[in-house]
Amino acid sequence: MIALPAFRLMRPATLAEAARHAAEPDARLIAGGTGLLPNLRLGLGKPRTLVSLDQLEELRGISHSSSLLRIGAGVTLGQLSRLKDIPDALREAAKSVAAPGHRTAATLGGNLCLDTRCVYYNQSEHWRRSNHYCLKYGGETCHVAPQGKKCRAAYSGDLAPALLALEAQVETTARVIPLEELYRDDGAAHLALGAGEIVVAVRIPAPKGRSGYAKVRGRGAIDYPLAGVAMALAMRDGSIAHIRVGLTGTNSRPFVLSGTGHFIGGKPDETALAKLVQKQAGPVRTTVTAADYRRQAAAILARRLLGRLSKGELS
Ligand code: SF4
Repeated sequence: MIALPAFRLMRPATLAEAARHAAEPDARLIAGGTGLLPNLRLGLGKPRTLVSLDQLEELRGISHSSSLLRIGAGVTLGQLSRLKDIPDALREAAKSVAAPGHRTAATLGGNLCLDTRCVYYNQSEHWRRSNHYCLKYGGETCHVAPQGKKCRAAYSGDLAPALLALEAQVETTARVIPLEELYRDDGAAHLALGAGEIVVAVRIPAPKGRSGYAKVRGRGAIDYPLAGVAMALAMRDGSIAHIRVGLTGTNSRPFVLSGTGHFIGGKPDETALAKLVQKQAGPVRTTVTAADYRRQAAAILARRLLGRLSKGELS
């Protein structure tokens, strides 16, 4: 780790002011800083300006109606993990992020906008320089796929798959979009946000059934997911009435598993679901853990979640 680079710190009091500063060249937003600051101390980025969101009351609210739960982007993961009246998948995902100290500072918006990760990228400046850097930052070659011209770093946020399973929308300073549209399949530029556009809140419709989240990680007490799966499931008379699955940790963006419509009206088929996950999860060599292990882990997590949710073992 190296010292933080010199930067100008802005602490705007309004969203409009924050958006103005965020649109300046070489400006970065900072909320809890649990993702950004370690990266800056690895030499990954030299922003001229950091725009802190910590003064913005507009980002902190949580409101419920019968049809919608709205959670501000500045709500911390610690707060989320203690809320009783939110879907289980979201609470479990928040609880699974890092350690309690991180969750006290880390925010919902920060977790959604987490940078992608790669074993060749999240390294010290010295290590990366010795390896001639890489395509994502400062170099010309991807060490994971040297023939390609696209970064395949993995998205590793825990909250996005839960919110995708729950059909959430994201509200930014510019628009309201389905959460899946916030992400692009590009490890070097995975967020589809315009200059100065800030994530303000998420909107979650009334749940259609039970939900849950599970992840596999290197260190059980504190780690990013090697694979993470969230599921929303409703059963009627022993058959599936609704199923939606969100994945993280395996691809450059979190994504909704496609093809689950096939399961509607049938009995839970854990083997078929696991096969579907294996086909769509696309991990590559971006962690020290083998890519195929992560693919298998995602399939097993989905299989187990389906079993537990359909039997009512998760609320
Ligand atoms: Fe770099 Fe390739 Fe890893 Fe992207 S996937 S961070 S370009 S080594």
